[in-house]
Amino acid sequence: MKFNNVLDNCHVYEAGKPIELVVREYGINSDDIIKLASNENPYGCSKKVTKKVQESAQNMFMYPDDSMYELKESLASKFEVQSNNIVIGAGSDQILNFCVKSKCNENSKILMSKTTFALYEIYANQVGAKVIKTEDDEHNLEQFLDLYKKESPDVVFLCLPNNPLGECLDKSDVYNFLNKIDSETLVVVDGAYQEYASYKNIKKEIKPHDLISKYPNCIYLGTFSKAYSLGGMRTGYGIAKKEIIEVMHKLRPPFNITNLSLTAAIEALKDEEFVQESIKKNFEQMKEYENYAKEKGISYIDSFTNFITFKFDDKYTSSKIALELLKKGIIVRNLSAYKLNAIRITIGTKEQNKIVLKVLDEIIEKY
Ligand SMILES: *Cc1c(COP(=O)(O)O)cnc(C)c1O
Repeated sequence: MKFNNVLDNCHVYEAGKPIELVVREYGINSDDIIKLASNENPYGCSKKVTKKVQESAQNMFMYPDDSMYELKESLASKFEVQSNNIVIGAGSDQILNFCVKSKCNENSKILMSKTTFALYEIYANQVGAKVIKTEDDEHNLEQFLDLYKKESPDVVFLCLPNNPLGECLDKSDVYNFLNKIDSETLVVVDGAYQEYASYKNIKKEIKPHDLISKYPNCIYLGTFSKAYSLGGMRTGYGIAKKEIIEVMHKLRPPFNITNLSLTAAIEALKDEEFVQESIKKNFEQMKEYENYAKEKGISYIDSFTNFITFKFDDKYTSSKIALELLKKGIIVRNLSAYKLNAIRITIGTKEQNKIVLKVLDEIIEKY
C-alpha cells in the first residue's frame, strides 16, 4: 500500500525503555528496577494530587470540560496572562505538533540545535518540512542567527534548558537573538525544564508573560510531566498572544486531555511546596553525580534540568555502559542515536543514585 510519501522519511520516536521490558528481558524483579531514562520526577507525585484524582475517578464516564476553564484560570493567574493566551495539550508534545502544523508544509523549513529534543524533527518530517540544524551540539545562538539569515526558516525551536544535554542559554542572550528575528517567524521556547533552570540560576528564567509581550511571535511551552510529576497524565500548555492561540485551537482535537488529567494538573498547581522540594533535592543529588564524574575524570555537561549527561572518551562506549547498567536493572538513556558517546541519567532519589553510582563504578573499574 502506498502512503503519504512525506512519511517515507519519518522515524518512530524511541521512548525510554519501560520497566516491563527489563523485567521480561533480564528477569529482574520490577521492584529492583531503577528507571532513570525519561526524566520523571523520582519523588512520585504530590499526595494531595493522588487523593483528588482518586476522588474524581467516579466522573470517568463523562467527557472532560473542553474549555478547560479551571486549569486555564489557574495557569493564567500563575503566569499573569489571560485564559485566551493559553492552549492545553496532551503533553506539550502535542502543542509542538500544533506549532509545526500551524506554519509548515512541504515548502517550509524549521531550525533547531543539532542535539536537542527529537520530536521537533519528527513533527517537521511528518509535514515534509526541511530540517536545518546548527553545527554545535549545544545551543549556539551565533550559528542559529547565521542559519536564520541564510535559510529563513518558518519555525525556530529553542529548548531552554536543552534535553538531552542539559545546558541552558541566559535569558539576555535569548532576547538579543529574538530582537533580530522577523515577526513572521514562529519561535517556540520549550520550557519543559524551566522550573529547574530558574531555581539554579535566575539568569536562565524566562517568564512567559514577559516573553510574549516583548516578542509576539513567540510561544512558550510548559509541561506537568517533569517538575510537577505528572508524566502519565499527559498534560502540557502553550502560552502566546491570543492570535497564535486561536490558530492552535483550530488544530486541537476536542477533549484532548482527560478528566483525570485536568483534575491532577489543577491540584498539582496548588502544591508548589512539593515541586520546590523536589527541585531542591534534585540539585543536591546532582552534586553526587558531578563529584563522581570529577573523581573519575568523566566529562559532564553543567545541567539546569533533572538529568545529567556524562560524555565518555574513547576508553568507554556509551552503548556498552548503558547495556551493562540495564543488566543490573538500571535504565538510563544512551545517546548514541545522537551520534554522541554519552549517557543521560535522570537524577533519582538518594537511595537510587547511590546504587547507580556503585554499579557504574563496578562497570568502569572492570572495563
Ligand atoms: C519532556 C519534554 C517535553 C514534553 O513532554 P510532555 O510529557 O509531552 O509534556 C517537551 N520538551 C522537552 C524538551 C521535554 O524533555
